[in-house]
Amino acid sequence: MTDARYEIVIAGGGPAGCAAALALTRAGRSVLLADAGTGPPKVGESLVPVAGRLLADLGVARQALGSGHLPCYGNLSAWGSSELHEVHSLSDPYGHGWHLDRQLFDRRLRTAARAAGADVAERTTVRPPLRTPDGGWRVELRGPAGARSVRCAWLIDATGRRAAVATRCGARRHTRDRLTATHLTLAPLPDAADGCSLVESGPDGWWYTTLLPCRRRLIAYFTDADLPSARVCGAEQLWQRMLRTRHVRARAEPHGLAPGSVPRRAPAYGAHLDRLRGDGWIAVGDAGTAFDPLSSQGVLTALVTGLNAAQALDAHLRGRTSALADYQHRVRAAYAAYLGDHHTVHQQEGRWAERPFWARRLVGATTRLTEGVPV
Ligand SMILES: Cc1cc2nc3c(=O)[nH]c(=O)nc-3n(C[C@H](O)[C@H](O)[C@H](O)COP(=O)(O)OP(=O)(O)OC[C@H]3O[C@@H](n4cnc5c(N)ncnc54)[C@H](O)[C@@H]3O)c2cc1C
Repeated sequence: MTDARYEIVIAGGGPAGCAAALALTRAGRSVLLADAGTGPPKVGESLVPVAGRLLADLGVARQALGSGHLPCYGNLSAWGSSELHEVHSLSDPYGHGWHLDRQLFDRRLRTAARAAGADVAERTTVRPPLRTPDGGWRVELRGPAGARSVRCAWLIDATGRRAAVATRCGARRHTRDRLTATHLTLAPLPDAADGCSLVESGPDGWWYTTLLPCRRRLIAYFTDADLPSARVCGAEQLWQRMLRTRHVRARAEPHGLAPGSVPRRAPAYGAHLDRLRGDGWIAVGDAGTAFDPLSSQGVLTALVTGLNAAQALDAHLRGRTSALADYQHRVRAAYAAYLGDHHTVHQQEGRWAERPFWARRLVGATTRLTEGVPV
């Protein structure tokens, strides 16, 4: 049997891969979107209001943001002081944001990509690609029905922080720090009604809490993986530590621990690739640049870079030779702006400046994109 042929294979069906698939199929390109669906489920993420506008431009806002999510009316933070500061979405021209059910959100985006004309292979892993004599790629896919091969001219790496394709193609990944999240889902509270997410800093990191669409609550503790504060043995230990906070405790305590719950860990460091494109490949979303979750910009950036990369690739295939370089330049500029903001925000917390977690983040924002910790 001969291999199926596509112009573009997209590895990864999160927001970045789906945005790229939507834009490319609408531009008339033949696209296969393969999503492994592996990795721990993403819980408790909020989507900033402007993302609604972007999803509307992609023609999928109603579908992706319909029932199943909760509105997010802003963010509360106790950062730099023990008092709560509120940034309400009333001041946002795009209205409110969302507390996402990420599984639902991603599934709906993949459904929309399929409806737009992309072939979508769920629970399917893209294996390391091989070059073909005609300068294209041969890609092995492993899915529920076994293994098969397809051929394509271009690969888009939308595999998230793993950057599975780009790193196989020789790109180097650099991390900014060792930030890690330990998170726990608490018991449901039927009358819980809390429209804001909350951040509270502490001596060795910061806490985040948000209501989940199922009326459970997420608590998450962010610190550096190499610090003693990262050692959490179980739900009870995380719970006891959380009880030392002021504002997170006030929201979490009424929920209580869910029986049998186990904390999960997730890498949360900022990271970037030394290059976002190469011969026959391009990286989007977290695969190219991953932000510290404090920014709440990850899903938005995934959608924007997925869309921009698709437009750039389409323009390149139509003969605009600078299109891919322009894409890389724009993403780099956005990442540099994020690094500046990240430093400014951490400067605003001066209460524990001598503690390692904060001291590491207060050293100048002058680090260049070529620096960092190679992984
Ligand atoms: C603890 C934590 C909290 C966060 N909170 C927020 C928040 O509140 N708001 C926000 O906007 N962002 C948040 N983020 C960031 C957000 O999760 C990411 O930025 C976003 O998911 C990136 O989307 P993506 O499409 O690039 O990658 P992902 O969402 O990671 O999707 C990658 C997909 O690729 C698939 N895949 C991987 N390898 C392969 C392969 N070889 N073949 C096929 N498929 C593959 C995976 O199964 C996955 O479905 C948070 C991140 C963390 C770690």
